[in-house]
Formats: sequence, C-alpha cells, structure tokens
Amino acid sequence: MNGSEFKCYGKEMIDYIEGYLENIGERRVTPNIEPGYLKKLLPEEAPLHPEKWEDIMKDIETKIMPGVTHWQHPRFHAYFPSGNSYPSILADMLGAGIGCIGFSWAASPACTELETIVLDWFGKAIGLPTQFLSSTENSRGGGVLQTSASECILVAMLAARAQAIKRLKQQHPHVEEGVLLSKLIGYCSREAHSSVEKDAMISFVKLRILEPDDNASLDAKNLRLAMEEDESNGLVPFFVSSTLGTTSSCSFDNIKEIGEVVQEFPGVWLHVDAAYAGNAFICPELKYLLEGIEYADSFNTNPNKFLLTNFDCSCMWVRDRYKLTSALVVDPLYLQHGYSDSTIDYRHWGVPLSRRFRSLKLWFVFRCYGVSGLQAYIRHHIKLAKIFETFVKGDSRFELCNKVVLGLVCFRLRGSDKLNEKLLSNINESGKLHMVPASQKERYFIRFCVVAQHATESDIEYAWKVITDFASDILDSAKA
Ligand code: PLP
Repeated sequence: MNGSEFKCYGKEMIDYIEGYLENIGERRVTPNIEPGYLKKLLPEEAPLHPEKWEDIMKDIETKIMPGVTHWQHPRFHAYFPSGNSYPSILADMLGAGIGCIGFSWAASPACTELETIVLDWFGKAIGLPTQFLSSTENSRGGGVLQTSASECILVAMLAARAQAIKRLKQQHPHVEEGVLLSKLIGYCSREAHSSVEKDAMISFVKLRILEPDDNASLDAKNLRLAMEEDESNGLVPFFVSSTLGTTSSCSFDNIKEIGEVVQEFPGVWLHVDAAYAGNAFICPELKYLLEGIEYADSFNTNPNKFLLTNFDCSCMWVRDRYKLTSALVVDPLYLQHGYSDSTIDYRHWGVPLSRRFRSLKLWFVFRCYGVSGLQAYIRHHIKLAKIFETFVKGDSRFELCNKVVLGLVCFRLRGSDKLNEKLLSNINESGKLHMVPASQKERYFIRFCVVAQHATESDIEYAWKVITDFASDILDSAKA
C-alpha cells in the first residue's frame, strides 16, 4: 500500500468506523454463532500473494462482524464500559502512525514527557495527594500508563515484594531469598478482582482472601486480626489490595479504616484498585469516596473503562517511584542514555520494555472534552443508573442487590437463583440485551451497567421493558 492508497483507504476506514458506531443499534448486540464459526469461513493458510483491499474490507462485514460482541451497543449492559470516543480513536491512530517505542526518555522524549504530564493532570483532577504527582517539588511519586489494571496490581505487588525481601534480608542476611519469599503474605477481600489472586500466583506469594462485611467491603477489623494471626504464625504481611468500585457490585472499601490498620504494620504496602470507579472521582461530589487515599502507596484507575478512552489506558500512580523501579530495573548498555539520571525511563516502571504512545489518547480526550465534559459524561451515566434503580425499586417482583453509587445496578427477581439464571439466559439468548451475573455470599444476581457512551433515558426504559417482559413470561409459566 502506498501513501495515496493509504489516504484513500484511510478515509474509507474512518467512514466505516463512523457508520459502524452511529448505526450500531441496528445490529444484534451479541453474535448468533457457534464456536469455531470463523474457521469455516477463512482459509487454513495465510495468502501467498497480496490480496485486494476491497476483498479484505468485504470480509469485515461478512466474516468478522457476525462474530463481534458489540460493546458500544446501546443494549450492551455487561461488565463495565469499554471506553470509546472519536478523539481517543484518532489519537490511537496517530500513535500507531508515529509508531515510536517509548521505553526510555531518549527512545522518544515526547512519548515519555506527555505521559508524565497527562498522568499529573489526571491525578490532580481526581484529587490524588500531591505526593503522587511528578510535578510536586522534590516529589518521589508519579504516574505511569500500564496495559491493564491487572498489571498495575501486579507491578505494585512486585514492588512491595522487593521492599519486603530487602527488609527481611537486612534482618536475616544468611537466610536464602526463596525462604524469605515463602513467608510473605498479602491480603484482599473476596470482592477484590480476581486479578489480585492471579498476580499473587505470578509473584509466588501467599494471599489471604478475607470475607467482606455486609456492605461487600473489606472489613478493617478482620484485616487486623488476620495480619496479627499470620504474624504470630511466623508469616510476614507485606501487601494489602483494597478496592474502590468492586467488579461484582461496585462496592467501596473504607480505605481510611484499612489504611489505619496497615499503618500499624510498618513496611506493608497498601494498593488501591479503582479500575472503574476511580475515573468518577473527577466529579467533586464523588471525591469523598477517596477518603483515606493518603495511606496508599499506589492507586490505579482505567480511563479505558469509564473515561471515554479506548483500551488500553490503565493509569497507575505511586507515592515513591524509587520503590517501584528498584524492583524492576535491569539496565543493559544498549538501553542506557546520557539523561538517565534526570529523566524518567518508563521501562523501569512495568513489565514490558516496549511501550506505545498511549498518553496521546488521554491527552486528546482531556482536551476535546475538558474536565467539565468528562464530569458531565460521568454524571449522565450515574443519572441513568439511578433511573434504572427506581424501576427496580418500583416493581415488587424484584429486589435491589447493591448500593447504586455509579453506573452499576445489581438486581434479582425475588425467588430462587435458578429463576434468576433462567431470566438472564432467556434475555441474553434473545439478543435484545446483554448483561452478566455475579454473586455475593452465594446469592446470584444480575448486573446492569450503563455502558454506551451516548446512552439515553429511553435506552434504560427499553432495557427495563425487556427485563420485565421476560420476567412476566417466566413467572407466568412457573405459575402454570
Ligand atoms: N479491578 C477491578 C475493580 C475491575 O473491575 C477489573 C475489571 O473489570 C480489573 C481490576 C481488571 O481490569 P483489567 O482488565 O484492566 O486488567
């Protein structure tokens, strides 16, 4: 493809994307295909000779789209949102076009510096303490973009692990590091995202998963008891992962109470995972949820969930970047440069070496919407969730299963789990809506998340009509 073909096909592609997004509601939200459908449609070998662009594009509609779950669809209410917006898509295109690999400042200075600046903008906008910002005088903190929240938590855990091993090694210089590692134990609540468990597996550390309280929050008293008990059994607490906005029900840990407990155990690292909810703290009226953040060592939130930015864009801030980098520095000659002492080299802040120019997305989004536009977007989603909550509360056949703070409403039909499983599977199979379940204390419920960027009140009314129609059918046939 030469430059003029690129210009021509590129314009066509923009038209295609715009048409896709503007008319997405005409498609079925979930695909109606069986596993392996694509294998039957594509050749077994890569083409030996070049193919025509037109033929490739034809296959998008005929072969790929039938197997796409449309996350931007107004009837998609599953998981958490997959952020999207035109400015973000364009910035991603630009990043791909520039095609730089920003692993160090020297490898592409703008890539590094924009990331630092935009993370400071965002950190300030959501109200992080100044110690987390790079621009604060004599700051040891700062922000970085990672690929996912799972990776943010992993990196925080690796930093905490390195700190703990260093401390233990000073106390027990003759004990092997592997033995010291076997003593480390981290903590989270059962409501924490499963990535915490996976990260502990990768880090080869023990993790104690604590039962949450009745609000689905990590109970600070239980945490203290567990840490004391483990210490008295010769283990070494080193890491606590708390959550603001849990995946199942968008519940909030009380990080002030947890932070106070963690303070009693010097050297323990407190991480706050706010993958979805953290974006909402851009609204002043929601900042109260961050109370206690001053106790945290690290914090993450994903604009690619709830801030109009395409995947991947997972923001992480640390109070002390040297604790992070000391766990991850490997420094071969070919990656060094003359400004290493005075600049940030993000390759030391995470697992991969190569990094894309991801900060462009967040920069474009902040500039095109402004903080006020982003606040309006978040408030609109919360307002729609509150409308859905009112519908649930107004129908005595249903019960509400969470405290609705942001865009997630959890509900169930009064009755058995089986009844609710049937309700959800009937709705999902119809392709009229898409939602996913969760459970707490072995109680099954359905999650309804406001997801689409331009969701409207009538989308919420439509969804409630679909849910209640299916519910009536199920209840009627149960009676019959
Ligand atoms: N933490 C929370 C609270 C989440 O809700 C999720 C995903 O929804 C994650 C972590 C994992 O996010 P990621 O897919 O970015 O790894």
